[in-house]
Amino acid sequence: MSLLVVGSVAFDALESPYGKVDRALGGAATYFAVAASFFTHVNLVGIVGDDFTEQDAHVFRGRKIDLEGLERATGKTFFWAGRYSENLNERVTLTTELNVFAEFKPRLPEKYRGAEHVFLANIAPELQRSVLQQVRKRPKLAAMDTMNYWISGSNAELRETLRHVDILMINDSETRELSSEHNLLRAAKHIFKMGPSTLVVKRGEHGAMLVDKSGVFCVPAFPLEEPHDPTGAGDCFAGGFMGYLASAGKHTDAALRRAMVYGSVLGSFAVERFGLDRLRTLKRAEINARARHFLKLTTFKL
Ligand code: AMP
Repeated sequence: MSLLVVGSVAFDALESPYGKVDRALGGAATYFAVAASFFTHVNLVGIVGDDFTEQDAHVFRGRKIDLEGLERATGKTFFWAGRYSENLNERVTLTTELNVFAEFKPRLPEKYRGAEHVFLANIAPELQRSVLQQVRKRPKLAAMDTMNYWISGSNAELRETLRHVDILMINDSETRELSSEHNLLRAAKHIFKMGPSTLVVKRGEHGAMLVDKSGVFCVPAFPLEEPHDPTGAGDCFAGGFMGYLASAGKHTDAALRRAMVYGSVLGSFAVERFGLDRLRTLKRAEINARARHFLKLTTFKL
């Protein structure tokens, strides 16, 4: 079953203790689409400028990613620059240039409008909602991401969008800010009242936690000796998670648990190299092998 994603396609400048790149293709929708395409067909809605070349589009080619919804506008592609601390846990944003993204009005090609699985990556909540409004009927599963900028700056709009999604996937500080609760379980209860029935909290090197009416499920982050660049790890987590669910076509408790593992697997590959570099060469067999490794990581006897 196909999966629709809307979000940023960007050029990123990245600095970490492991190196520096001045112009790497990035953006939340890019990371998400590449990660999800290992599992299912992805329809991408976004915008790029006239500096986006065929060589940049190369990472999408030969994958199950449809680009009819990727608008090409006159001007420069969204640009973001970030620097990571020594331990990679903290990041400062050095530059955000919206460029063509400032005028972005997502438009779904006719063939995307029957989407059954939708992921609204981190963009303005009213734009996220406009995508849901263009989908013909309520999707089987709609999930979204957001960030502190929208939680504090567009809270009413965000609350309105939250009423229409099933899953909210955010990090722990965003969870706390949105719910005004420090404890994540209490935070989940607050967030359920806003609309979503499932909360997935992404916790970086501490893994991820899913909370829904059946309870709580936790998955670790895959232990890596030399992570290089955490950019896009959360979007790749979301891509693995939603890609798996769209391919499975069911959202049972067992399927959600497997989706958490595939999310963590894709997130772990993303951080191994700069930008999209590791995903470019990644093979499905490596994903399966790492997912099996998670069994070894988490199984024990009492
Ligand atoms: P993450 O590491 O999951 O926060 O995602 C990083 C990606 O998000 C980068 O490739 C950026 O291009 C993109 N990004 C950064 N800031 C924004 C923003 N304000 N809106 C949309 N995308 C952004």
